[in-house]
Formats: sequence, structure tokens, C-alpha cells
Amino acid sequence: MDFNDTPEEAAFRAEARAFLDKNAELQGPEGAAESVIERDDPETIRAAQAWQALKCDNGWACITWPKELGGRGGTPIQSVVWNQEEGRYKTPPNIFMIGIGMLGPTIMTHGTPEQKERYLPKMARGDEVWCQLFSEPAAGSDLAGLRMSAVKDGDEWVLNGQKIWTTGAHYSRWGMLPARSDPTVAKHAGMTYFIVDMEAKGIEIRPIKQINGASHFTEVFYSDVRVPDSYRVGAVGDGWRVAITTLLHERAAVGAGGRVGPGVDDLIRLAQQVELNGRPAIEDAGVRQRIADFSVRMAGLRCTGYRTLTALSRGQTPGPEASIMKLVGASLGQQVASYGIDLQGLAGSVMDEEGGWQDAYLQSAGLRLAGGSDEILLNIIAERVLRLPPEPRVDKNLAFREIPTGPPSS
Ligand SMILES: Cc1cc2nc3c(=O)[nH]c(=O)nc-3n(C[C@H](O)[C@H](O)[C@H](O)COP(=O)(O)OP(=O)(O)OC[C@H]3O[C@@H](n4cnc5c(N)ncnc54)[C@H](O)[C@@H]3O)c2cc1C
Repeated sequence: MDFNDTPEEAAFRAEARAFLDKNAELQGPEGAAESVIERDDPETIRAAQAWQALKCDNGWACITWPKELGGRGGTPIQSVVWNQEEGRYKTPPNIFMIGIGMLGPTIMTHGTPEQKERYLPKMARGDEVWCQLFSEPAAGSDLAGLRMSAVKDGDEWVLNGQKIWTTGAHYSRWGMLPARSDPTVAKHAGMTYFIVDMEAKGIEIRPIKQINGASHFTEVFYSDVRVPDSYRVGAVGDGWRVAITTLLHERAAVGAGGRVGPGVDDLIRLAQQVELNGRPAIEDAGVRQRIADFSVRMAGLRCTGYRTLTALSRGQTPGPEASIMKLVGASLGQQVASYGIDLQGLAGSVMDEEGGWQDAYLQSAGLRLAGGSDEILLNIIAERVLRLPPEPRVDKNLAFREIPTGPPSS
């Protein structure tokens, strides 16, 4: 494990800081607790796009992408350094993570030269926002069970079905999805992957109201939506392999996204501000012990992150750390936010415009599901890290349309 920047990394960090100092403001004393509430009103979307365009025009968007596609042609470790530095500043919400972090790399790996040239530069600059339409009401963890149908009709495909939990569909220009093009073969074999125009006829987007009052994600209904064959990514029937590329990048993008929600430094500040039994809470031995416990666990997480950094820095592919970090980090974030609310006493139950702790707490449950739920991550760690026997997969070799669904017939 190597904790220090190489001279080249230090120079890159200094250059990144100079750009950020000139164009953005450092986080205030409230840190992450202040900035956790994300809004997606048109003004915020415009601000996010303006910030992305400024970064792109100065070579700070998509650090690892080739220059001709809007990137910097940099290394993965430079990308990590940039994310660390940008995370210290107040910037508009990153509404491009799904496109740039997951869908762009999928087009880069499986797309045609025309698709790369048409879509990637505009994605990199934030001119066009993208969404990922994978989950369906009956296909979340078991994504390969998806039911949206894709039927070929001349040079077009006709899509019918429903997607759900689609983050940002309501402000996205384009989306990407796998659909079932052949129900007569096993579930992993009968899928094809498409780029979809979110303004196409037959698409209906309905916002989902979240527990924190926001509506970041949506249900999307497809009724006879026609998609040109030129929007297909990868071969017919090869959609699962393309989808796996997106999912591999998802875990990496989630891991690289920096801290989500308040951390130990925010807890310390809060414990200095609030009182317990007539004294600042920070002077209470029980409070100090809890904060110390969070701090130790956060340090473990940070060191695990350094293993990923070190692997990247040496040009290696990171191992299973991303699954471990997501599993531990999401529940630790939930516990920290919950304790922040406890420390506020009765005031903890009030959520106003600045309610960063409350919002972080309400969002934290979703983070334990998105990008692989706790149980699925445990399964991955059990099978791929500990080499335990895999789960029984009874539908693996059945034709998709032969897989029993619904209650058993009497
Ligand atoms: C904030 C947020 C944003 C999201 N954004 C998007 C998006 O942009 N695009 C998109 O396509 N999807 C998105 N999703 C959906 C997300 O991918 C799914 O929620 C996730 O895959 C889990 O699927 P599910 O909700 O259908 O739960 P299910 O798969 O139905 O799981 C329900 C419960 O059963 C458990 N479970 C399931 N299978 C197993 C198993 N084999 N072993 C043990 N336990 C199991 C799960 O852990 C979970 O606790 C988002 C979700 C959230 C919370």
C-alpha cells in the first residue's frame, strides 16, 4: 500500500487545485452535511451542465477518455485524484455519473465508430444527459429476468414493457437498456442492448416520489416504441455481455464518486455545537466513544480504498475491494447519519431546507440497494472472494418463456 502521491501525481493534484480554486468555492464549515440535498430543478440541471462544459473545455472532464472524444487522455489514478480534489469544492450535483461513468465506457467497448463519434463528445461535455434503464418491476437483483420485449420489424425494433427506478429519466436526452429479443433461449442468452431516444413516441415517464420529498427517479413505460437498428449496441442476442460491461463500470463509478453524506468530521463539529446534560456533547464520554468507533471504521474503509488506488497507480485492475467498500460504506453512512440525528435531540426530527442530516439518513437506505444490494454483495464476496459454493440457479438452462412465474397453478 502506498499512501503518497508520486511526483507526477502531486503535480497533477496541484494543477487540478489551481483550476478549482479559480473556478469554484471550497466547501463551507458544514462540509458534506451542508451539500447532501440534491435538487434536479431546471436551474440546477443548467448549472450542472455549465460546470461540466467548463471542465470539458479545460480538459478536466472524463480524465481517462481519449482527447478526441472529449476527455483528457489521462490515467485512472489521475481520475481518482481529480475526484478527490473536486469533492472538496462546492459544485452542482453530478448528474453525469451514469452516462460518463457507466454508459460511455459501454459505448467505447461495444459501440460502432459512428456511435462513438455521435454520442460520446456531447456526453462528455454534458450537452446531453443519459440515463440507465435496467431495472424492471420483476427484474432488479435478477436483472437477467427482464421482460421488456424487443421485436425486429424491418430496419427497426419495437420495444414494449416497463422500466423502474430510472434515475434522471425526466431530464435525460438518451438512455440505454437491455431488452428481451428472444424468449425461446435461456434468460442470459436472449437479450439485445439498445441506445434509446428518450423523446421517442410511445415513451411515458412518471416520477416516483421519494421518502425525502424529492423525485430523482422514475417509472418509464414503453408502448410500441420504434428504435432504429443503428441504435443497437453489440450483436443481436449479446445484450447480457454488454450489460455486464455497464454493471462493472457501475461499481467502479460508485466507488470513485467520493463521500456521499456526512462523515466523522461533520459529527465532531455537530457534537461541539449541541449540548447533552448542559455540557457540549463532545465532552460526554459515551459520545466520544461512538465517534471514535465510527472514525476507526472509516479509517478501515479509507485504507481499503487505498488498496484500489495503489492497484490503479501500478496499472493493475482493482480486485473485490469495490464490493467490500460498497457493502461497508453504505451501512456505515446510514449509521453516521442516524447518530447525527440522535445528537440533535428533539430537533433531529425536524427536516427543513437545510436538513442535511435528515436527508442523508433518508437517502442512505436507498444506497444499500442501488448498485447491488447488501445481500447481493455478500453473495458476490462469498462466491468470488471466499470461493464458497454458488447459489443454486434453477432457471439457468431453461428457455426464458418456460420459467414458471406467478403462483403455482392448482
Ligand atoms: C437510489 C437508487 C437509484 C437507482 N437508480 C437506478 C437507475 O438509474 N437505473 C436502474 O435501472 N435501476 C436503478 N435503481 C434500481 C436498483 O438497481 C435496484 O433497486 C436493485 O438492483 C435491487 O433491485 P430491486 O429493487 O428490484 O430489489 P429485489 O431484487 O427485488 O430485492 C429485494 C430484496 O431481496 C434481496 N435479494 C434479492 N435477490 C437475492 C438473492 N439472490 N439472495 C439474497 N437476497 C436477495 C435483496 O437484497 C433485497 O433486499 C436504483 C435504486 C436506487 C435505490
